[in-house]
Order: sequence, then C-alpha cells, then structure tokens
Amino acid sequence: MDAAARARTPRGAHKVAIGGGELGRGEKACRWPGWRATARAEVVVLGFLATLALLVVMFGGGAGSQPAFASPRTEFVQKPVSTASHVRADDAGSDDDPAPPTRHDQDRLFGGLLSPAFDEQSCRSRYASSLYRRPSLFRPSTHLVERLRRYEARHRRCGPGAPLFKDAVEHLRSGRNAVQSECQYVVWTPFNGLGNRMLSLASTFLYTLLTNRVLLVHAPQEFDGLFCEPFPGSSWTLPADFPITDFAGIFTMWSSTSYKNMRQAGAISSDNRNVSSERLPSYVFLDLIQSFTDDAFCEADQRVLAKFNWMVVKSDVYFATMLFLIPAYESELARLFPEKEAVFHHLARYLFHPSNDVWGIVRRFYEAYLARADERVGLQVRVFPEMPIPFENMYGQIVRCSEQEGLLPKVVQKNDAANNHSSAVASESRKKLTSVLVTSLFSDYYERIRGVYYTNPTASGDYVEVHQPSHDREQHTEARGHNQRALAEIYLLSFCDRIVTTAVSTFGYVAHGLAGVRPWVLLRPPSPEAPADPACVRSETVEPCLQAPPRRKCGADEGTDMGAMVPYVRHCEDVREGLKLFG
Ligand code: GDP
Repeated sequence: MDAAARARTPRGAHKVAIGGGELGRGEKACRWPGWRATARAEVVVLGFLATLALLVVMFGGGAGSQPAFASPRTEFVQKPVSTASHVRADDAGSDDDPAPPTRHDQDRLFGGLLSPAFDEQSCRSRYASSLYRRPSLFRPSTHLVERLRRYEARHRRCGPGAPLFKDAVEHLRSGRNAVQSECQYVVWTPFNGLGNRMLSLASTFLYTLLTNRVLLVHAPQEFDGLFCEPFPGSSWTLPADFPITDFAGIFTMWSSTSYKNMRQAGAISSDNRNVSSERLPSYVFLDLIQSFTDDAFCEADQRVLAKFNWMVVKSDVYFATMLFLIPAYESELARLFPEKEAVFHHLARYLFHPSNDVWGIVRRFYEAYLARADERVGLQVRVFPEMPIPFENMYGQIVRCSEQEGLLPKVVQKNDAANNHSSAVASESRKKLTSVLVTSLFSDYYERIRGVYYTNPTASGDYVEVHQPSHDREQHTEARGHNQRALAEIYLLSFCDRIVTTAVSTFGYVAHGLAGVRPWVLLRPPSPEAPADPACVRSETVEPCLQAPPRRKCGADEGTDMGAMVPYVRHCEDVREGLKLFG
C-alpha cells in the first residue's frame, strides 16, 4: 500500500473530533475515538459477585440455552440441479424457471436467494454452507429474489463473452462514451484487507442493482480464486484482454478520470445534467475510499454518473448505507429490504461463496474441531497497528466482557472445595461441550484461554475446548494463501452461535453479517493503555458500520446529523461518527 493509501485506511483517518475540532480528510493522525456506547447490553454480574469469594473466576457465567442447532449432516445428498446453460438469458424469465422449490430447497437456497442453476461440484460451499449454521432469522423479500433472477439474466446478456459485451468494450477502447447503451457496467477494484473488500464489493453490487448495471470484478492474483462465480451462466471476472490493466497505477486519488477530479477541473458538473452522453469520457472512476465518500451521494451526482456506460469503483467501506439516504432509491430499497438490518446479510450470502480450496479448509477444520460442540463461541481479536493495545489489557477486556455478558463458562481452581460440588452436580447430567473458536493474527489469546480451561475445571463441570486455525502474525493482503485462510476464518466465525468481535474491524463485520448474528463488540479504548468501559456491548443490528460517511448530506443544512435523518440510519456502536442500518 502506498503512503497516500495508508493515510486513508479506515482507521488511520477517521473524522474524529479531537478537542472540539475536526481533522480534514486525508490528514494522517492518531485518533482515539474514546466513545462509550450508550446501548449497553444487560450486564450479568450478580452471580459472579456472589461467588467471587469462593471461586477464582476466570470467565463470566456460562449462561445460555442449549442450542437447537445440530451439526451438519455430512451425508447430505444434493438434489440434481439444472445447469447454467438451461437458464433463460433474458430479464423477464419465467418459462424456464425450475419447479417450485421444496422446503429442503428453501433452506439450501437461503429462501430463494440463491439460484439453483449451478453445478454443485464447481462450488461446494454454495449449497452446503446453510447446513453449518442455524437457520437465518431473516428471509429475503420476494422482490429481492425476483430482482436477483432478473439481474442474473442481465448479466448473462451483457457479461463477458456476450456480443453486447464486445460492443461495450469497443466503445471503452474508443475513449468516448457511447450514447445510452443497453448494457452499462460497474468494474469493482479491490483495496485494503479482505473485510474491507467484501464490504465494498457487496455495496457495489447493491449499487449495480439499483442502477441496472452489470458488476465486473478486477481480480488481481491475490484475490483470484477466493470466491466462486456468483452469477449463473456467466462470469463476473474481467477477461484477460480487457483494455484497462494497470488498475493500481491508474486509479489513484490523483486520477484525472475520477468523478471528483473531473468536477474540480470543471470537466463535468453535477449541475450540468443535460450534458450529452457522447461528449463524456468512456468511463468514470468513482473513488470511494474512506476519505472521499463526499462526492457521489447527491441525486444530482447520480444523474451525471448514470450517463457513463463504464464506471470503475474503488472503495474500502460499506457505502451501501449511504444509498439508503438517497431519496431516489428509497422506495426500491424499501421493497428489496423490508428488514434493513439484513441488507449485508442477504447480499453477502448471495455473493460470497468460498472457492472449493477455501471451503476445503473450512470443512476440514469444522469437522475436526467444531462439529461435536453443543455450542460454538467465536472470538475475533484484532489488534490494530494504530491502536496497539498491550496483550494484558486486551485479554483483561475479553475477560470483563465475558463476565458482563455471560459468554464463556466460569472456571474454578482445581483444589477449590466448590469444584467437587459443582462437578458432582454436572456428572448427574450430560455434560455440555462448548467450542471456543479464536481468530487472531496472534496466538497469545488462544494460548491463554486454552491454558485456563486446560488447568481448571469449569464451575458447571461442562467441557470447553479452544481452537485457533492460524496465526500469521502480520497482514499480508498481497498473498493469496493468507487471504484464503482469512476467508476460511471469517466463514468459520460465521458458523458460531455467539460471536464476539473487535470494534472497528471489518473482518468481524463480515463474519457476523454472514452469520446473521448480533455480535458482542469489544469496544475501542480511548488509548492503548486505558481500559475500555464498558468492555463490550451487544450490537443492536447485524449490519456492518459505514465507518467514514460523507461529512455532509447534500441538501441538508450544515451540521445536520446524518444519524438522525431517518429512523433506520443511526450511528454505530463502535465508531461514533459512523452510520449503520437498523430495524
Ligand atoms: P480489518 O483490518 O480488521 O478491518 O479487516 P480486514 O479483513 O480488512 O484486514 C485485516 C486483514 O488482516 C485480513 O483480511 C487478514 O488478511 C488479516 N487478519 C486479521 N485478523 C485475522 C485473523 O484473525 N485471521 C486471519 N487468518 N487473518 C487475519
């Protein structure tokens, strides 16, 4: 990552007021948000306090009911599916629709979210991952399902290999925008870590749906092969002979093709909505990296952007949230997502299916270490370079969170009298097994927690096992194997019944979003050495946070709080100035 890009990482340049002032965009600064969530979940401490004198309590009480969720059936037999070539290539498509889905299909296809028109072997995760999770609490709307099927037909008609695609690429080569074309495209290019990428890609797909475009993905080697193709009978990957190749070199904050720079240079204007399409360049670059989200979300901007047949989007944020504040999209979004907190959940389950290689890692690990458990607790510990919380502080925060929220079983000292009593009680009934999945770049948290349960029995006599799939120590987004492990771990976390994530981490957002689970969020302390208070809060929504919204909503008065404009867009628990969808 170059220096300019680094200065704009989601955590490096937040618009955080310090001493009453707001730092400008792109300024590099160390900022400790220090915000304390008000939506604190119910704190369960009384039992803990009462037994404190007797027990050496390492973790909070193991409350929680026995999950109804059973381990996945490995003997799962796949119903034959129609192949992609049988699927009709037009938007209207009902003639070749498959037979009405059975109940089994409804689960397998996430309530119709997924098309049945794929070869299962080419992407084993697609139809199997539903077996590894509790059924989702959220159903996709009929309208979303219809729009997705129509989108798939459009993608086949306009996507790589289709004659319309060849025509569109010729126009792109010519350097001039074509007169309104039947097929318009968004090319997404990756930036930052995998969590950032998945959030921005899901946002770009939603934007594509709303603007009737076709989504294509620039997949550099480290991104290639992570995910299955999401659209049946076509590909979302840019073909090798695509005229634009040097994405990293061309699409920077200084790019003359960026919408913002074109506007600043007077080449286009959001007022100038009558400019004819063919006088525009052949593509526009929409730079939505976290510091630059100001310049795209006014209706006037959208009208100008709609004229470009090719658009390149580079972003590392969940800008989908902003689309809900654009009046032109309001009614369509309401039909697509009657449950606003499930937007990313549905988009991610639709788009992100680990490739067979990644799914192999997920399945093997799950079967070996998690399948037998009665309850799976996922703990994601992310220590950010700009907030280097010392190990003991972070570990202490995890323990306090667990105590407050009753997340992990309590332990007692081996020689404690209470031990014999509780073990005896537990021996009368079947012992529950809790598997704790720790994901982190470091192994210390796993080792400490595992050591606690290795050395001490639990107060209930139940069993706890602790596992960590990998600990690469450093982020290596440029390495495919590293990204495969990261994706595998995001998926494994998403199979957990309870999920504890680290504030501000997009890796954590994606995991609980895929799961459809409201996480417990380990809040960011005001500084690395200071304790976070409270240690964690239970999120009120499964949606990710848009950490860097535009500074100002177009049309609104200066100082208008964007978190108070509509009831379903409010501020995030972990990033005070961020926005997310509720309800
Ligand atoms: P964020 O930085 O926490 O918002 O999440 P990102 O996913 O965008 O970037 C962090 C990157 O660091 C990940 O994509 C991984 O490459 C790596 N990483 C961070 N935490 C973990 C972890 O627990 N497991 C693995 N395998 N990789 C991790």
